[in-house]
Amino acid sequence: MSPVSKDSVLQQFQNTYGYQAAGVWSAPGRVNLIGEHTDYNSGLCLPVALEQRTLVAIALRDDQTVRIHSRQSDETYLGTVEEIGEDWAAYPTAVLWSLAREGMTVGGLDLVVDSSVPVGAGLSSSAALTCSVALAVNDLHGSIFTRDQLAAVCIRAENEGVGAPTGGMDQTVALFARPSTALLVDCCDGTVEHIPFRLREAGFELMVIDTGVKHSLADGQYGLRRTQCVDAATALGITTLREATAEQAETLSDPILRARARHVVTEINRTALAAELLRNKRFDKIGSLFDGSHASLRDDFEVSCAELDVAVTAARLGGAVGARMTGGGFGGSAIALIPAGESTSVAESIRGAFAARAWPPPHFLNVDPGGAAARL
Ligand code: ADP
Ligand code: MG
Repeated sequence: MSPVSKDSVLQQFQNTYGYQAAGVWSAPGRVNLIGEHTDYNSGLCLPVALEQRTLVAIALRDDQTVRIHSRQSDETYLGTVEEIGEDWAAYPTAVLWSLAREGMTVGGLDLVVDSSVPVGAGLSSSAALTCSVALAVNDLHGSIFTRDQLAAVCIRAENEGVGAPTGGMDQTVALFARPSTALLVDCCDGTVEHIPFRLREAGFELMVIDTGVKHSLADGQYGLRRTQCVDAATALGITTLREATAEQAETLSDPILRARARHVVTEINRTALAAELLRNKRFDKIGSLFDGSHASLRDDFEVSCAELDVAVTAARLGGAVGARMTGGGFGGSAIALIPAGESTSVAESIRGAFAARAWPPPHFLNVDPGGAAARL
């Protein structure tokens, strides 16, 4: 498939609908450096936006018809503004529903979607899609909503419109990221801090390893983990695990809830430490926090899988200074922090480990932190 650009999306719009789009908007995918399964516990997370983005070309219509063509799905959805579509079309149509719910008078529109964000790889193609659509429609309606409001619109679109549980990190980073920075998100109140993240200047690279697998138990397990976190907080007599100390977590009598709470509490601490290291440009020290995060997700939160564990171990053997699964787990992607120039040996090590198990080769992506959703 040809590279995704403003011109290519405009051309696709012209080819699909036979007239010119009003404009093109885009939003980035993201990778979370650390702070996994903390967002729905009012905790901290530290994502960076990717340079890979989802682009949407759009034009408003005079009627109530909604047409959406996705180059990734290679099909055109046809419906009206009152409906939420099926399958992939649920995401953009749920955004229209969510905008309308907030009071926007949304009419029909034509949309073309194209993306360089790997879809379903734990790199947040879904928020890249919802946030680019939300920003585009909002801009064409006189920018009545702020970005904070748009984040809430997109979270509701995924949670209630699509029925996909998501904690809010993805939409926040898609709408608030800045180039060359990581975003410390405090999910307690949604506040963000932009921390400079100039890896190359510090002599490092960040590699994403997309394992290409998505285990089918993932969806139910995500919901179950959320419930267990709520149950742990309730047993401790607090509102969210954000308020718990490490000592408190150890007092839980149920061993499963104790392990889940231990992950959340220690992960929030690791995230705060990682943010502090980033502020002081101590990239060299962050690797061990990645390792600790992976072990905690694997052993206490139990959301890793064989492919992620193998990718992480092989990355370390290949020369990475730290590696961890990233995203919800049960497949998707891992990240590795690598001294500059050693990414080839890390990739070789991982490829070899996958080949030895007769698994399909993973895909690699180099991270260059990109900016927030914007009109192009
Ligand atoms: P992630 O957000 O990590 O990529 P999700 O499961 O949250 O994974 O979202 C992936 C889903 O989002 C896809 O299955 C598809 O329904 C939808 N989606 C994302 N990007 C696109 C796109 N460019 N075209 C069509 N659907 C997309
Ligand atoms: Mg998603």
